[in-house]
Amino acid sequence: LSQLFRPLDMLGWVYRTIRQGVIDMGAMFDLIDTDAEIVDVPGAPPLAVTQGSVRFENVRFGYEDDRKILKGIDIEVPAGATVAVVGPSGAGKSTLARLLFRFYDLKSGRITIDGQDISQVTQDSLRAAIGIVPQDTVLFNDTVGYNIAYGREGSTHDDIRAAAQGAAIGDFIESLPDGYETRVGERGLKLSGGEKQRVAIARTLLKNPPILILDEATSALDSRTESEIQATLEQIERGRTTIVIAHRLSTVVNADQIIVLEAGEVAERGTHAELLRKNGLYAEMWTRQANEAEEALAAE
Ligand code: ADP
Ligand code: MG
Repeated sequence: LSQLFRPLDMLGWVYRTIRQGVIDMGAMFDLIDTDAEIVDVPGAPPLAVTQGSVRFENVRFGYEDDRKILKGIDIEVPAGATVAVVGPSGAGKSTLARLLFRFYDLKSGRITIDGQDISQVTQDSLRAAIGIVPQDTVLFNDTVGYNIAYGREGSTHDDIRAAAQGAAIGDFIESLPDGYETRVGERGLKLSGGEKQRVAIARTLLKNPPILILDEATSALDSRTESEIQATLEQIERGRTTIVIAHRLSTVVNADQIIVLEAGEVAERGTHAELLRKNGLYAEMWTRQANEAEEALAAE
């Protein structure tokens, strides 16, 4: 009997998770192979977010037992601060985001929000407190209004409009003949990469989470669209605890702290200016990207 119920439980969980708008169809595929063993401890209380401070304490993790991905990570994100995580592809940056969401449990160490171990509170309350703007936003074949509203159940038309305005896409939507009723996605209006990112930002604004993760949220965009979206993101970061995972370093220069992750370890940490002075891995990445940007500009 338990074999029969297991997949159903899983489906229910996936369904609820999507309904809460904590993930996106893109993340769905990641999710399918998520550890189904993640369960609430009996009698787990909901997470009580008071300030929104996040701490990773000596976090060790691997997807498989024989391969260590994170090798003892300490990160402190004070309430309301912005911490950036940068580093080569495969370093473990997105894994940090997945662990904060508790898609997996740690091998050892702990992650806390306002001092509460995230493995000891209900998953629903944890995920309600965190908003993610992913790299690629996949839209449902439904109206643009629905695509924004799935950030929160029971939102009114005014809520949706306010969120769209906050994400600087409201005027565009209102200029469409069908407005918020316009169908989008594969079988509807095709939105550009920048417009889709704005829908994702509107969703997050509607959810209004105290903790925000931007996982390479602008890396799929051309540099002009990126800088436009960047300005909007900087606004929504205000008053929230934010973890920015970034490939392009130009987007993290203003972070309160930058963590350079390399092969699952913190290689360097500091502000942009401190890291440039250190003349290490970050400075090297910075110089390389600045040269690439110059070359791209010259080629235009
Ligand atoms: P980053 O975001 O820094 O590019 P990730 O955190 O996505 O890196 O991945 C870190 C490492 O973990 C990579 O080597 C990747 O191949 C591996 N990895 C990511 N997801 C899984 C998974 N679901 N199962 C097994 N290995 C994974
Ligand atoms: Mg990643």
